Amino acid sequence: TLTVGVLALQGAFFEHIQLLKKAAEQNRPTEWEFIEVRTPQELAKCDGLVLPGGESTTMSLVAARSNLLEPLRDFVKVHRKPVWGTCAGLILLAESANKTKKGGQELIGGLDVRVNRNHFGRQTESFQGPLELPFLGQDAPPFPAVFIRAPIVERILPHQEGIQTGEVQQDETVVAPSRRAKDSVAEAAMADHVEVLATLSGPAARCATQGRDINPDQEVGDVVAVRQGNVFGTSFHPELTGDARIHAWWLHQVQKAVNKRNKLAH
Ligand code: GLN
Repeated sequence: TLTVGVLALQGAFFEHIQLLKKAAEQNRPTEWEFIEVRTPQELAKCDGLVLPGGESTTMSLVAARSNLLEPLRDFVKVHRKPVWGTCAGLILLAESANKTKKGGQELIGGLDVRVNRNHFGRQTESFQGPLELPFLGQDAPPFPAVFIRAPIVERILPHQEGIQTGEVQQDETVVAPSRRAKDSVAEAAMADHVEVLATLSGPAARCATQGRDINPDQEVGDVVAVRQGNVFGTSFHPELTGDARIHAWWLHQVQKAVNKRNKLAH
C-alpha cells in the first residue's frame, strides 16, 4: 500500500482527498491510502504529499506552530519524496516569493522558481478557463482550470542548492532555507532544472486578462505549472473540479518514484 498525505492545516484539503480517491480507481492494482497530515508523525508515514490551495501565509504560520515546517522541508529537500502544491501550496514550494502586507516569511522551497503570490489584478482575482496540459497527453481535452487569487511562476532561478538564506535575501523577497539530499537515493529524485509544464495562453489567458492591461512582452504566457524532479506545482486548483486527470497523472508519478527508490535501495 502506498500512502499519500494531504497537508490539512488550512485550505482545500478535503477536496484533494476526494479527487485522489477518484484518481486511485484509475491507478489499480496499486492499493492507495490517503491521510490528512497535521503532525510530523503523520507526515513520516507518507510516500507522497499534496499541499492544497488556501492562504499561504496562514498555512506556513500554522505549520510552524505545529512543528511541521522543518519536517516538511526535510520531506521535500532532504528525502526528496514526491510533493505537489496547488496555488498556496505552489507558493510554499517556491524558493523565492514576493512579500505581501501579511508577510509570508516561511517558505518550504524545493522549486528553483520565484513566484508572484497574487498575480492577477482585482477584477480578475478569480476565473476559470480551459487550459492545455500537454503532459496529460497530446490529444487530451483542455483542463477546466480554476484560478483563485492565483500565483504565477514569474522567474526560473539558477539551481540554488547550498546557498544560505540571507545571501539572496532582498527587502521585498522571502527565500526558503536550503537543505541537501540525504543520500544517493534522494539525490536521484532530484532534477537540476525546472520544467515548464503549462502556460496560460489562448482562452484561459483571454479570460484572465479581461479588464487589465496585457503585457505586450508576454508572448509565452504566464507559467502556471512546473516540475523539478520530485516537486510539482500548479497555480490553479484541480481539486475544485470533478476532473481527476491531474491527480491520476500525479499518483502515477508517485508510483514511479517509489519504484525507483526501491530499486536503488537494493
Ligand atoms: N494568493 C494566495 C496566497 O497567497 C493563494 C490563493 C489560493 O490558494 N487560492 O496564499
